[in-house]
Amino acid sequence: SGGADFIVVANRLPVDLERLPDGTERWKHSPGGLVSALAPFLQRNSGAWVGWPGVPDVEVDKFSDDGIWLHPVTLTAQEVRDYYEGFSNATLWPLYHDVVATPVFDRGWWDSYVKVNRRFADECAKIAADGAIVWVQDYQLQLVPAMLREQRPDLRIGFFLHIPFPPTELFMQLPWRAEIIRGLLGADLVGFHRPGGAQNYLWLARRLIGLEPSRGAVGVRTRPGVVQVGDRSVRVGAFPISIDASGLDATARSRDVIQRARQLRADLGNPRKIILGVDRLDYTKGIDVRLYALQELLSEGRIDPSEVVMVQLATPSRERVEHYQRMRGEIEQVVSRINGEFARVGHPVVHYLHQSIDRKELAAFFSAADVMLVTPVRDGMNLVCKEYVACRHDLGGALVLSEFAGAASELTSAFLVNPHDLDGVKNAMVSALELDPAEGRRRMRALRRQVLTHDVDRWARSFLDALQPRQEQTL
Ligand code: UDP
Repeated sequence: SGGADFIVVANRLPVDLERLPDGTERWKHSPGGLVSALAPFLQRNSGAWVGWPGVPDVEVDKFSDDGIWLHPVTLTAQEVRDYYEGFSNATLWPLYHDVVATPVFDRGWWDSYVKVNRRFADECAKIAADGAIVWVQDYQLQLVPAMLREQRPDLRIGFFLHIPFPPTELFMQLPWRAEIIRGLLGADLVGFHRPGGAQNYLWLARRLIGLEPSRGAVGVRTRPGVVQVGDRSVRVGAFPISIDASGLDATARSRDVIQRARQLRADLGNPRKIILGVDRLDYTKGIDVRLYALQELLSEGRIDPSEVVMVQLATPSRERVEHYQRMRGEIEQVVSRINGEFARVGHPVVHYLHQSIDRKELAAFFSAADVMLVTPVRDGMNLVCKEYVACRHDLGGALVLSEFAGAASELTSAFLVNPHDLDGVKNAMVSALELDPAEGRRRMRALRRQVLTHDVDRWARSFLDALQPRQEQTL
C-alpha cells in the first residue's frame, strides 16, 4: 500500500519547531536517546514518526528528515493546556510518581486527552502499511493502542511506558482507570521499566477488566506475563531503558571534553571536591533533599565550605504548571540561604544554573564531578546516573543514587539511599566525599560493566524482538 512499515508514535517529534522573536520559524533537532536508538530501525524500514512539534497551532505537512518521514500532529493552544499540561502533566505525572504532588482530576482535561489520543491514532492508521509495526511511546498516549487496533487490526502494536507504573492502590484513584487499562490492552506488547510495573498492570487488567493473566514468555528479567483478550494475547514485560553508552564514553574521552572538565574545575576555584546534580527542574527529582542534606552537613561542620562546592544544573521544565512554579521558588530559596550563610565573596558554595546544558558540556561536568547526587523520590529509570557512569572512563567519581530510581536495580554498586531519610542521604554524601580511591575504582568498574553492556540499542532491540511474531524478523 506504500505506507510506512515501522512507525513510532510519541507525544513529541524528534524535531521541535522554534519560533524566533523576529517571527521566523525553524526546525531544531531535539537530541535524545530514543531518537538515536530508533533512527537505524526507522531508516531501514521506510519508517515514520508521528508526533507534536512542540508549539500550538502548527499545521505542517509531513516531511522527510534523515530518511525518516515526520508527521506533525496539530494541537491547539487549548489542547496544550488540557491534554498536555493538564491531564498528562498535572494528572498522570503526579499519580504515576507516587502522588508526590496531588494529582488533579479534571473531566475537561480527560475529554481533551481522549480527543488528542484519537488524533494520533487516526494519523497513524492513515499512514501505516499493511501489517506494519507501530511503537507507541509513553503516558501521554495510553489510549492510542486500542484506538488504533479498532481501525487497523492488521498492525503489530507495541507500547512502552517511560515513567513508573504506580502501585495499584494509587492507580485506582483515577476516575478513568478502566479506560486506560483497556487502551493499553490494544497493544500486542506492553513494556515497563521494572517488573513491579508489569505486575501492577497485570493485576489491574484482572481486577478492572476481569481478564486472567496466563503463562507465556516475554520480558527481560521478569517472570513473563500474558493477558488473554479474546483470541488475542497481550504480552506484558519489563524492558529497562538505557543510553548510548559507548557514544558518551567516546565523547568523554575526547580532548575537548577533558580540557573543558579541567577548565570547569579551575573556574570553580579548584576545590578539593565537586558535588554535582543534573536534573530537569521537577518535584520528583529530590533536588530539595540534597540541598537540605548539604545545608545540614555545612551547619554541623561535616563539610567545609572552603573545600567543597556543589553545582546544581536544573533544566527549565513545565514552567506553566503550578506545582513546578512553587517548587522552583523553594529550591531557589534554599540555594540562596546556603550561599547567604556559607559563601565567601567570589566563592559561592552552591552554583545553581537554571539553564539547559548541551551534551558535550554535560559530559565535561560529569567528568569533573567527584560526587554525583541523583536523589529522586520516584523516577521511571533516570538516565543522568547512567550518563555519569558512562563518562567515568578514568574510574573516578562516586555515585549517590536513590533506591526509588529505576536505575537502582541495575546500579547496585552506587551508594544507594532512601531520599526520605535525610540522615541516610547525609551519611552517603560524606562516605562518597571521603571514598578511598581503590574502593571507588572497584565500584565504578562494576557500574561501568553494567551500563556499557546494557545500552539503548540493546533495549530497543529486545523490545522489538519481543514484539515480532515468532519467526518473522523483518526489522
Ligand atoms: N539533559 C540535558 N541537558 C540538561 C539536563 C539534562 O541534555 O541541562 C539530559 C540528560 O543528559 C538526560 C535527560 O536530559 O539524557 C534527562 O533524562 P532522565 O531520564 O534523567 O530524566 P527525565 O528528564 O527524562 O525525567
